[in-house]
This record gives sequence, C-alpha cells and structure tokens, in this order.
Amino acid sequence: MNFPDLAGRTAVITGGARGIGYSLASALARQGVNVALLDLLPEVSDSAARLAGEHGVQTASALVDVTDPVSVDAAFADVREALGVADILITAAGITIWGDAAEVAPETWRKVIDVNLNGTFFSTQAFARPLLAEGREGSAILISSMSGRVVNVPQHQASYNASKAAVDQLTTSLAVEWAPALRVNAIAPGYILSDMTRQFIDANPDLAAQWISAIPAGRMGEPADLDGLVLLLASSASSYLTGQTLVIDGGYTAI
Ligand code: NAD
Repeated sequence: MNFPDLAGRTAVITGGARGIGYSLASALARQGVNVALLDLLPEVSDSAARLAGEHGVQTASALVDVTDPVSVDAAFADVREALGVADILITAAGITIWGDAAEVAPETWRKVIDVNLNGTFFSTQAFARPLLAEGREGSAILISSMSGRVVNVPQHQASYNASKAAVDQLTTSLAVEWAPALRVNAIAPGYILSDMTRQFIDANPDLAAQWISAIPAGRMGEPADLDGLVLLLASSASSYLTGQTLVIDGGYTAI
C-alpha cells in the first residue's frame, strides 16, 4: 500500500496509546506521516517513542481527556508546537460500558456519550480551527462503529449504539459546514480484536464464537484490517469523498 501524497503530512490521533488508534497511527507513520498521539493513558509517550523509532518519523504525545475541551485545546496546542498544524485527524478515543437500558445509572450513560460523542466533537473542533483560520485543507476521520446502525447481540449497550449513531450524523454535519476546506468522514468497524473487545471475550469465551457466527468473513477483524480504508480517506486519492460513514465489518451488517 502506497499513498505518496501522505509523506511529510501531520496527523493527530486521539485514543492513540493502544488498539485501533495506535494501529492506524502506525499505518500513517509507515507512509511517512508525522504523528501526534493523544490519550488518557500515560503509556501514550512510550507509544509515540516506539513509532518514531520504528518508522523514522517525527512524533509527539500529550495526555488528554477528550471530554474536557480545555484539556483537548491544551493537548492540540502542545502537539502543534512540536509538529506544526495537523492536517489529518483520527478520533479513536472511545469506550463502551455494557448494561441493561432500564437499569443504567445516569452517570454511566453520560460517561459513554461524553467520551464517544462530546469527546469526538471537541477533538474535531480543535483540529479544524487552525485549518479553517488559515484556509488550509485537511481530512478528519472519525471512528464510529457498525453499532451506530445495527444493534449487536447478545450484549446490551444502548449508550454505545446511540453515541455512534450520533457520531455518524456529526460526520455529515461537519462535512457540510466545513467544506470545501475540510473533508470529514467516518469509518464504522465491525468487531475488532482490541482491549475493548478482549475484556469481554476473556470473561466469556463463548462470546467470540457467537459474534463470529454472524460475520460472513468468518473472523473478527484485526486493527490492521482498517489501514487501507483510513489511508485512502486521509489521502488526496479520496479528494471528492466527504460526509460519509463507511462500514468495514467483514459483512456483518450485510445480513
Ligand atoms: P481501546 O480501548 O483499545 O482504545 C481506546 C483508547 O481510547 C484507549 O487508549 C483509551 O485510553 C482511550 N480513551 C478512552 N477514553 C478517553 C478519554 N476520555 N480521553 C482520551 N482518551 C481516551 O479500544 P479500541 O477497540 O481500539 O477502540 C478505538 C475506537 O474504535 C473506539 O472509538 C471504539 O468505539 C471504536 N470501535 C471499536 C471496535 C472494536 O470492536 N474494538 C469496533 C468498532 C468501533
């Protein structure tokens, strides 16, 4: 896979310390993109150092809580100081908390909406401001989920599903408002092996088999399965593509 126009550009990845965010940051770094990782986890600085060592690109990192716009603005300012204005954004910070809708506590509901929807919005805002002010182009890629359009079973995760549906409509709203300078797209992955899903599989080994039985591809995805689509969305090869949520789920939502 080679997207030559990406070399020398700069990306910010929220939720970049591990999982899908880290994997996509690696994919960008392999194309010569300088990457800034933002995360709650202190290990984010090690993750950024590893990418610099493996790919020879410039990296930066900052601690952030995406639910706090002050923290988000400070983190974007820090990485702007280190790497300049970013023209690629990936919002991978996200959480899920399972529970029955009739019983879920208000603070639990709010937490999921706060990270997945509000955190995504604050991050896109901090990304967009300097680009819009300078009249520069950029590409934002929001990590949504197939759960924004189908209800996964057997788990109960209404807050997660609702938050991701909202991310899809945020994507179209920002794409229209910020065109033509910025393109805003989302990807909606199916089941991907990461810490997020492993916590449930480890607790209930039958769960993976149940999920996989409904996936035409016959397996859960790996974070690297998302590389090609995200590189395409970041690259000028998709310059007329904006306002879309592209599902990448091994066929799960096709049946
Ligand atoms: P993960 O738990 O491995 O990674 C999520 C990252 O987000 C972690 O590094 C975490 O520290 C960070 N984060 C959480 N809350 C944060 C906050 N308030 N501020 C800053 N950082 C925060 O999970 P993952 O599977 O890599 O998930 C990445 C994204 O992909 C999420 O948005 C998730 O909803 C989405 N997604 C995952 C799957 C899947 O099956 N794993 C499927 C579809 C979509």
